[in-house]
Amino acid sequence: FELERLGVHDSVDAVFPPSELATHLADLPVAVDVIGDDEIADCDAVVTIEYREALLELDWIHSIQAGVDRFPFDDLEAANVILTNSTGIHDRTVGETVAGYLLAFSRRLHDHVANQQERRWERPEWDEAFTLPGKTACVVGTGTLGRGVAETLGALGVRVIGVRRSGDPVPGFEEIYANDDLLEAVADAEFVIATVPLTDETHHLFDAEAFDAMREDAYFVNVARGPVVDEPALIDALESDSIEGAALDVFEAEPLPEDSPLWSMDEVIVTPHCAAYTRDYFRDVGEIVRDNVGRLEADDEFHNRVV
Ligand code: NAD
Repeated sequence: FELERLGVHDSVDAVFPPSELATHLADLPVAVDVIGDDEIADCDAVVTIEYREALLELDWIHSIQAGVDRFPFDDLEAANVILTNSTGIHDRTVGETVAGYLLAFSRRLHDHVANQQERRWERPEWDEAFTLPGKTACVVGTGTLGRGVAETLGALGVRVIGVRRSGDPVPGFEEIYANDDLLEAVADAEFVIATVPLTDETHHLFDAEAFDAMREDAYFVNVARGPVVDEPALIDALESDSIEGAALDVFEAEPLPEDSPLWSMDEVIVTPHCAAYTRDYFRDVGEIVRDNVGRLEADDEFHNRVV
C-alpha cells in the first residue's frame, strides 16, 4: 500500500505525549501528525493504544502496546488491515519492575513505605526480611517480558525456571517446563511470575488449582494481563494464606475498583498497569514504526506483524 499520512492517535497520551512521537518521526518521508478520532479517515496508517472501528478503513495499525488482545483480529483480517504490535521493547522496563517487587518483598520496603505514611517507626519481625540469591522464580511465558525478567532476576542471584508451550530450553532459564506441567513448575518457586499474552489458552491459566499448587510462602506476580488470572481465586488464596502475597500490575477490571480487597492487603503491591513505563517509551515505539516504514518502502515483511 501507499503510505502518505501516518497518524499518531491522541489515545497514546495514556503512555506518552503523542507530539513526542510525531516529532521523533518527523524525518520520515511521510506526513506524521497527531490526530483525534475525526481525523482517522484522513490517514493511511495510525499508531494507537486504543481500538476504533474507523481504523478498519486504514491499511496499517500499529499498537504501542505488546498486548493486542483488545483488537478484533477477525474484523481486521476481513478488512485487509495490517496490525503490528510493540513487542520486543519491554524486557528491561518490566524486568526492573519485577525486580523491584521482589526486592520490596524481600527487604520489606512496602511495609516501610506504608509505615512512613503513618509516621510510624517500626522494624520488621526478625524473621520477615530475607535475601534473593538461591530463591527460585518460575516465569510463565518466555517471550520478551519473560526473558527480560529472567535476565534481571538472574543478575540478583535468583534461580529462574520457565514455562512455555514447547518445554524447549531458553537461554537465561535454568530449567524449562511445558505448559502441561505448570502445576509441577510452580510448586517449588518462591516467586511465580506471569508474562504470557492473553489468549483463549491463557485465560484464567492461574486458577484455584494453580494457587493451591504454589508454596505457602510464594509471591505471585502478574505483569501480563488481568484475565490470565482468576481474580476471585487469587483473592481467596491470599485471604486463606495459601500463598504469601502478590504484586499486581494488571487486573480483570481496570482501573482496579475502589472496593477491591486487593487494595488493602498488607502483602499485596498494586501498581496501575505501568510496569513498562519509561520516559524512552516513545523512542522505543518510534524505532519499530520507523523500521516498518523502511520495510514498506523496500517491499519487505513488516516486523512484529500480528494480523
Ligand atoms: P512476546 O510476544 O515477546 O512474548 C509472548 C510469549 O508468550 C511468546 O514467547 C509466546 O510463545 C508465549 N505464549 C503465547 N501463548 C502461550 C501459552 N498459551 N502458554 C505459554 N506461553 C505462551 O510478548 P511480550 O512483549 O513478552 O509481552 C507478553 C504479554 O505481556 C503481552 O501480550 C501483554 O499482554 C503483556 N504486557 C504487559 C505489560 C504491562 O505493562 N504490564 C507490558 C508489556 C506486555
